[in-house]
Amino acid sequence: MPAAFSRRILAWTLAASVAMGLAACAPERAVEPSTTPSASAPASLPAPVEKVKSFFDKNRYSIDDPLSIWAVNDKIRPFDPLDYIPPDLVTPDVHYISSPLMRKEAAAAIKQLFAASAAEGAGELQIQNAYRSFAVQTSIHNRLVAQLGKEKAQAQSARPGYSEHQAGLSADVVGRPAVCAIQQCFGKTPQGVWLAKNAWRFGFVIRYPEGKQAVTGYIYEPWHIRYVGVYLSTELHNTGIQTLEEFFDLPPAPDYVD
Ligand SMILES: [Zn+2]
Repeated sequence: MPAAFSRRILAWTLAASVAMGLAACAPERAVEPSTTPSASAPASLPAPVEKVKSFFDKNRYSIDDPLSIWAVNDKIRPFDPLDYIPPDLVTPDVHYISSPLMRKEAAAAIKQLFAASAAEGAGELQIQNAYRSFAVQTSIHNRLVAQLGKEKAQAQSARPGYSEHQAGLSADVVGRPAVCAIQQCFGKTPQGVWLAKNAWRFGFVIRYPEGKQAVTGYIYEPWHIRYVGVYLSTELHNTGIQTLEEFFDLPPAPDYVD
């Protein structure tokens, strides 16, 4: 009896080991890209699998379709159609000053981002403003053109159909209480410092980094975050590539074509 019992134990142990071994080598682990920043390959994975895993699929989403979370809009890449309206705008469950609408996926992510900032000791964040429709941007822009002339107006506010705020994936954010709202000194506040280091963990990027005006067309805006999803934000973080234009090999967009 004891011998038979121990054989059963041995057989069970062997079966369990085989099952675990198979699980560790399951192919879906190799091709499924990391979607969470903390995920890392087990040390036991063989080298070829590591190579497959590190491949980044730049064609996973469109950069032209305004519905895509990777859509790249800048001064030479307007929305198409120009008056595009996102289909799934919601009010994020966070503090805000005005116009908080964002697309559903981005709204969920910004809630997590803000919660982490507070939990990790950087202080509270709030939305200054997020979605701006083509119609709203048109009235803002036309008023500025009337006041300042076309050139000065365009330096201050994007042309309607060209502002990233129209995608519903971007937000201007500030601490709560607000310090240095829509000013570069926001980047030196505890929230601004934390955001620059950690936004990628939640799928966001600082869309207009310092020293990249010749590429993005915009001065350093430490307050303007753009949701692209963690797959891309993690790759940008890991590669150190700072702009969407550079990452996707797009031409620099320092200014409008005409
Ligand atoms: Zn902005």
